[in-house]
Amino acid sequence: MKLKKKLYWDLIFRYIVFLIVAVVATALFLQGIIFVTLSTFSKHKDSIKNISEYLTKIEYDNRTKELKLFDDIGEKAWVEILKDNRVIFVKGEKLDEIMEYSQEELALIINDINDFMRTDNFSYEYIPFTGLDGEKYTLLLKEPLEKMIFTMGIINPYSIVGTDIEKEINRKAIFLLWIFLLSIIIIIVLFSRITSKKLIKPLKKLNKGVENVINGDYSIRLDYKASYEFEQMRDAFNYMTEKLENAEIENKKISESKKRLLLDISHDLRTPATTIQGYSEALYNDLVENEEDKRKYLSYIYEKSKLVTDLIDTLFKYSKLENSVYDLNREIYDISEFLRNVMISFYGEINEKEFKLDINVPDKKILFNFDKIELERALYNIIGNIIKYNPKHTILSISLLENNDNIHIIIGDNGVGISKNIRKNIFNALVRGDNTRKTDGGMGLGLSITKKIIELHGGNISVESEVGQGSKFFIDFKK
Ligand code: ADP
Repeated sequence: MKLKKKLYWDLIFRYIVFLIVAVVATALFLQGIIFVTLSTFSKHKDSIKNISEYLTKIEYDNRTKELKLFDDIGEKAWVEILKDNRVIFVKGEKLDEIMEYSQEELALIINDINDFMRTDNFSYEYIPFTGLDGEKYTLLLKEPLEKMIFTMGIINPYSIVGTDIEKEINRKAIFLLWIFLLSIIIIIVLFSRITSKKLIKPLKKLNKGVENVINGDYSIRLDYKASYEFEQMRDAFNYMTEKLENAEIENKKISESKKRLLLDISHDLRTPATTIQGYSEALYNDLVENEEDKRKYLSYIYEKSKLVTDLIDTLFKYSKLENSVYDLNREIYDISEFLRNVMISFYGEINEKEFKLDINVPDKKILFNFDKIELERALYNIIGNIIKYNPKHTILSISLLENNDNIHIIIGDNGVGISKNIRKNIFNALVRGDNTRKTDGGMGLGLSITKKIIELHGGNISVESEVGQGSKFFIDFKK
């Protein structure tokens, strides 16, 4: 599994790197201090005396308590002879009162790290030797530190206080301290810059994107690579702009279709209204004398006014379904019987056009919860179209199928088929075939109303059609 490059982990990684760099810088600084101190000491090593250099030979007689040292041990130094860690003999003026050493104290002295740890300001030299009686003894040479500057001045300042060595070490140490502080500041600045760059870069791009959106440009897409959270923001932003862009396109389409709707409606209403106006004017002005013609004109007026009413009804229905949350009046009913009744209501028109019927509706009850009036309207539009747009002797087929979950209604014909250029958008408002325009057909709202009603029932509608071979409408409902 690929670990997501989360900002959280990214920051943790950066802090760890920073910590390591800071620790390395501190270690280098300390190393530098030690180096400076030691190199200063070694530069001045002629002036630093190591006691052991003085002592070339030790002779000690335990019986007579006589100690011979063949070298000078210095003015304020004294010698202690230890046996089993206890002081058994002292030569010189002993400046402390220690008569017995613990093993730990001796260990510190032996390992020469006493100078760092001790607080007693003495320098020690530890020399084990064999006495004249053949016994093992230890010589401990002690001297106050003021003179014995073989000590780290920085750690034990008393030893080199006021000397040139102290001044030189301090000068170098302060110089190193400045370098250390400077490098820490540079590290902090660099670290902050790199981190902020990592954060600011995507934020800047996001900001730019938002500005574009505010200015109405939804075509912008962000493509930066950054931490997981910023990439999520990028994807969300791109998703949002895509949605906005689509909504804008959709809005444009809607406003265009509204314009078209208005144009088409005015045209559709104008034609019958003009006819009505012409005929009624002729009648009103007594231009029609023949009684039979009068009746013919009146029947034209009636037909055209019926057409106008139908058009207005359809339009009203469409805008109702389109603009409001439409409440269905559903009830559980046998859909097989419902379909048979729908077919019966078309009986007159089917007969008139000498259509053949192919009905596959099962005898058994299939219960479904639907709005009878609305579903009838939906199916009327499909069947009405089949009758309206197809020639005599066309076969009209209707089947009802069900399985555990779904109900399928298939309504089809073997007639003229739907032309390719409108097939894809047949369920959109105002889409209608050229044949429709020439006749007094609908406004291209029928199938969009049908689709809306079926979708309100939670169903789906699709069409398959081939010019010259007919059309098939598939309706699916979830039970
Ligand atoms: P209209 O009000 O024009 O009938 P519809 O939305 O009901 O609008 O139908 C859209 C167009 O689809 C019609 O104008 C017609 O050209 C075409 N059409 C629909 N059903 C059929 C069919 N069964 N056979 C051929 N053409 C059809």
